[in-house]
Amino acid sequence: MPRTHVIGAGLAGLSTAVSLLAQKHAVVLHEASGRAGGRCRSFADAKLGCTIDNGNHLLLSGNKSTSRYLSRVGAVNALIGPERACFPFFDVVSGRRWMLRPNAGIVPWWILQPGRRTPDASVWSHLSALALMLAGPGRTVADCVGSRGVLFERFWEPLAVAALNMPATEGAAQLLRPVLRETFAKGEAACRPLIAARGLSHAFVDPALAWLRAQGAELQFKRRLTRIELSNGRAQALHFGERRVRLGADDRVVLAVPPQAAAGLLPELTAPLQSSPIVNVHFRLAQPAEVPEQLPFLGLIGGTAQWLFVRGDVASVTISAAADLVHESAAVLAKRTWRDVAAALADNPENLPPHRVVKEKRATFVQTPDQARLRPGAASAFANVFLAGDWTATGLPATIESAIRSGELAARAIVRQARRPR
Ligand SMILES: Cc1cc2nc3c(=O)[nH]c(=O)nc-3n(C[C@H](O)[C@H](O)[C@H](O)COP(=O)(O)OP(=O)(O)OC[C@H]3O[C@@H](n4cnc5c(N)ncnc54)[C@H](O)[C@@H]3O)c2cc1C
Repeated sequence: MPRTHVIGAGLAGLSTAVSLLAQKHAVVLHEASGRAGGRCRSFADAKLGCTIDNGNHLLLSGNKSTSRYLSRVGAVNALIGPERACFPFFDVVSGRRWMLRPNAGIVPWWILQPGRRTPDASVWSHLSALALMLAGPGRTVADCVGSRGVLFERFWEPLAVAALNMPATEGAAQLLRPVLRETFAKGEAACRPLIAARGLSHAFVDPALAWLRAQGAELQFKRRLTRIELSNGRAQALHFGERRVRLGADDRVVLAVPPQAAAGLLPELTAPLQSSPIVNVHFRLAQPAEVPEQLPFLGLIGGTAQWLFVRGDVASVTISAAADLVHESAAVLAKRTWRDVAAALADNPENLPPHRVVKEKRATFVQTPDQARLRPGAASAFANVFLAGDWTATGLPATIESAIRSGELAARAIVRQARRPR
């Protein structure tokens, strides 16, 4: 039986494998490291004495590919969130708190209600969303919505930084548009915030591995693909160090690895190779924190970090678009971000709790209009080699939803090719 070799067990590789197996295609999954999950994983932290995620991940209920993936592997209940869409914010400088509450249905009347929209922002300023929805390929978010004013500071900039891992003045408008189209523009039911209740691996990785094993997939860890033998427009064999795996006439390969790794394996691949970092700081609190309205996350305005997530006695902050801060020492980052956390949770700013700083230098590709143009589709220049990953041309920003959708797209291209007569 022909097999597809999926290289990389991040969410794109797992999604490719799950989508292929759901259609009865045989899969071998090869992962360079000793565990799956890639940039979306949990690990036991000895210093904090608990399991933490490499970074906080926020999803929205309109993330359709993610829902499909989780239902397929039986993990749909692993994400939790409020029953109605709401986004709490806290201004760390003024101490002001507010909540965005989008309404049901596609007519966004929530922007007419001062208690539901961004405070001090006029109704008219919200019309800037229309400019974003019509944005052409070369434009940044700020080119469309402006780069000043209350709505920019309290809504557009936090949204761009969260979704694109870039400031609004640099991030590609075309990548933010689908986020609005697939979530906020569909009403509150599509933009309910979701987080992994018991960690990223528990939600996205462990159930997928169990499902893949049960379906007969072959899973290989510590198997780094080092070279692909290419000739006659096809991949002929895969090299994992000393080990050579010859490919049959109907075998296929999916490179679900980061863009830098894919470019090293496939000559002349065009890909967005510049990276943007994210820093997370996890604090083990003396006792479980009280969070406003029982919501496990809070947007932070005016501080070092942009988001605070609280799970029991662990408070974690995210600094996205962290190019200017990633080189600071862990001690400096912990001290600076603890000030924000202490203010938000009414804790003591002088009493720095045990903490862990996780720096992901290659968290996402640099999502500017220029780099976004370099994203390749699922097909490659070689007939039996396909591409997946959050950085491929899914139309979405580099997120979990993009990684999972890229796997669906790669699997679809393979199934289509397999059905075609030779
Ligand atoms: C700190 C942080 C916070 C984030 N926050 C959010 C968020 O709030 N919401 C959201 O939706 N997204 C978020 N993201 C983005 C999300 O995590 C990624 O988009 C997604 O995990 C990418 O998955 P991937 O499979 O495309 O790539 P990866 O996870 O990078 O997977 C690639 C895999 O390939 C393996 N590999 C590499 N080279 C080889 C080789 N030669 N042979 C075999 N295997 C190889 C790697 O070990 C890895 O396991 C965040 C990312 C980070 C880092």
